[in-house]
Parts: sequence; structure tokens; C-alpha cells
Amino acid sequence: MQQPHLQCFTPSCRAHFDITDVLYNCPKCGGLLEAQYDFSSLSAPALKRTWRERRMSNDPLSNSGVWRYRELFPFIADEAHIVTLREGNTPLLPAPRAAHYGGLDSITFKHQGFNPTGSFKDNGMTAGAAQARRLGMKRVACVSTGNTSASMAAYASAGGLDPLIFIPHGNIAYGKLSQALEYGAKTFQVEANFDQILALVRVLAERLGIYLLNSINPFRIEGQKSIVIEMMDQRDWRVPDWVVLPGGNLGNVSAFGKGLREMRDLGFIDKLPRLAVIQAAGSSPFYEYMRDGAKPPFKAQEHPETLATAIKIGDPVSWPKAQLEIESSGGVVERVTEQEIADAKATIGAAGIGCEPASAATLAGIRKLTAAGIIDRAADVVAVLTGNVLKDPDYIINYHTGKLRAPDKSPIHPTFGNAPIVVPNDADKITELIG
Ligand SMILES: *Cc1c(COP(=O)(O)O)cnc(C)c1O
Ligand SMILES: [Zn+2]
Repeated sequence: MQQPHLQCFTPSCRAHFDITDVLYNCPKCGGLLEAQYDFSSLSAPALKRTWRERRMSNDPLSNSGVWRYRELFPFIADEAHIVTLREGNTPLLPAPRAAHYGGLDSITFKHQGFNPTGSFKDNGMTAGAAQARRLGMKRVACVSTGNTSASMAAYASAGGLDPLIFIPHGNIAYGKLSQALEYGAKTFQVEANFDQILALVRVLAERLGIYLLNSINPFRIEGQKSIVIEMMDQRDWRVPDWVVLPGGNLGNVSAFGKGLREMRDLGFIDKLPRLAVIQAAGSSPFYEYMRDGAKPPFKAQEHPETLATAIKIGDPVSWPKAQLEIESSGGVVERVTEQEIADAKATIGAAGIGCEPASAATLAGIRKLTAAGIIDRAADVVAVLTGNVLKDPDYIINYHTGKLRAPDKSPIHPTFGNAPIVVPNDADKITELIG
């Protein structure tokens, strides 16, 4: 049997490396890496039963909505290296009024904001932290627009590793920065944008022997596959027509696509859902690349701008993987404006669900794709809400009080504004206002 190994993603290279080599790119061609396994002894029906049984167990790894499914990412040799905060286990939530807003008969949100640190980054970080521990690393680092650092800080500290965080100065939602500090990460605010800081940190990682946990790390991608595995388990393996998610660095769509293809090849599901990636208009290099015929070289965007800071990425590292997944699932890429994101977000909030700005790009994109006839009104659609509503409270208050400004300073209209009302201490007046 072939051992788990790393493989270069570039079709003309496909070089193999040991699973314990500390690599972020292929040393031969510079391409992306991915984990590969010999799945020949797996039985889908038997595993479906095992995974159901684990949901009833009190064993920590069975409780985890990531490690419950570990047979589909068996890269860890010793389970003692795993750090779990009982990540995953996120709900599928129907939302009829949000469906109507999106031009659909029905919609289901897979809400990754229910994770321990409030975003889907936990699904990948538990896997990346496990690999860091198995490699004997002492320090881990990432560059982040926010959620990666919050998640890495938590998993590193929980697992006895020192977390080092690099963030663009003055460009991070407060909920996320607070988490990184609270979880004990040494935090550096650098006067540069995300893409520049990533280059800097790669130099530092090499020089100081620090393990990098950015989304280029192939083990984070492996952990994030659990989002679609759990989703299919929760749906009793009924494949939706569409899975819609926001795109920044494009690690998540890469993980979804890989996980879904593996599940199809192993007989867990009989077809692939179509993937739709939604970008913010001010930060949409992947949208432009795919629209213009998907012909390399990929053109990075030098000054990405959006209030949805989790997807404010001009040079997404995982674009080759994302391209493969969009093409092999018959997927699409769409982009939406700041106003469209803000109104979709308030709609998700008014459904009692709520999410952070980047997550709301999904519903805004669905609204455009149904209007264009690309997604059918009757389609079975799962939209992934990637982060928790409390990640970015400033955005919320500004929207509802009519003070939200797009990066170019143009006002965002509070279409569904719900500002607090200042009242005198007077029961009659308040009764009148309540009506
Ligand atoms: C990281 C993140 C994204 C973007 O995911 P990628 O894998 O970088 O495409 C979207 N939404 C939220 C809330 C995130 O934290
Ligand atoms: Zn290569």
C-alpha cells in the first residue's frame, strides 16, 4: 500500500514528496502541493455507518466534526498529535426569506460561524496544528486578514505551540484582532498589504524554522474537506445542485472540490454539485481571470479593496486548484458590489442567522446568478456562511445607522437599516413609537 504523501499539483510535474517534508511549494517547479492517499481499502457504506456511530460517542476525536471523518484525510500517523476544540459540527439552516431575496424557492446555509473561533478556518487549522506537532515544530506563523490568525492563535496555544501573527496594519476587523490577542499570539502589525506580508513571512519562516500555517499549507486544505463531508453526511448523502461560497485566497473552494471529487470517486456520492465562488467586485482577480478565458498567466490585483476584509486578497495563492474545481464541477465565478454584500448581510441577519461581511457575498451572488438564469429558482442550493456575525461589529453598527462607507468613500445605503431609537424615559411616548 502506498503511504500518504505530498504531490505537486502542476500537471506537467506531479513530483512526489514525503508527507513529513516541510514544504509549502514544489521544490522542482514552484507549484502547489496536495496530500494524496491510497484509498483502495475504504468502503463507503461501512464508513458512513462508522461516522454516524461516532456522533453518539463521547470520544474527543469522534466529537470533532473534522476528525470524525479522518479516514478521508489520513495523513497523521499518531492521533496524540491532534489538537481538537471540537471544531466542525456546524448546522445546516434553512432560511425561507433569505431564499426569496436570493431568487430561490429555498436555501440552506451551512454556517461555519458556529466553529470554536467563529469561522471555517478552524476546520483547517486543527489539521495544520496537528501536522506542526507531528513535525516537532515549536513556533507557527501566518499572515492573515483576521480569521486565520484568530484560529491559529487558539489551536497553537491549545496545543502548546507559540503562535506568531502578521497582519496588515489598520486593516483588520476588531473581533478577529481581539481573539488573536486573547488567545496569546505574538502579533505584528506590518505596514504592507496581505500579499507583501506573505512574502516577508516566507523569508522569516525559512530563516527561523517556523512552521507556516497559511492557506498554502496543504494540511489545512485537508482539514477543510471535512466541511463538505459533514455537509453530505447531514444531508444523508443527497447531493445539492449548487454549493456557493465566497472566494479570497481560494483555499476553501480548493478543499471543497477535492473533498467532493474524492467522495464521488469512492462512491459516497454519485455526482458533483456545481461550485459557485463569489468575490467582492473590488477584489476579484479570480473572477476576471475566469471571465477572460482562464488563460495563464494569472493577473494579480495590486490594490484589492473591500469592506469584506476576509476576501480582500489580490493574489490568491490557490487559483490553479480553484480553476480545476470550477471547471470539473461545471461551476461559475461571480462578483458583487459593496452595496449588494451589505444588503444581503442584513437579510441573513434579519433571518435570525447573521454572518460576517465576506459570508454574505454568497447570498448577494446567488441573487445575481438566479436573475441571470444561471441558477434555477427551484435549485437545491447550499450557501456557506464562513464567519460569525460578531467578527465585525463596527460594520454592522455603521450599516444600520447609515454611516457605512465603501473603500472609495461612497456611502452604502442602509436598505434594511435598523438603527437604535433614542427615547425619553416616558411610557406614553414609547407606547406610541411601538404602535
Ligand atoms: C478566509 C475566509 C474567506 C475566504 O476563504 P478562502 O479560502 O481564502 O477563499 C471567506 N470568508 C471568511 C469569513 C474567511 O475567514
Ligand atoms: Zn512541481
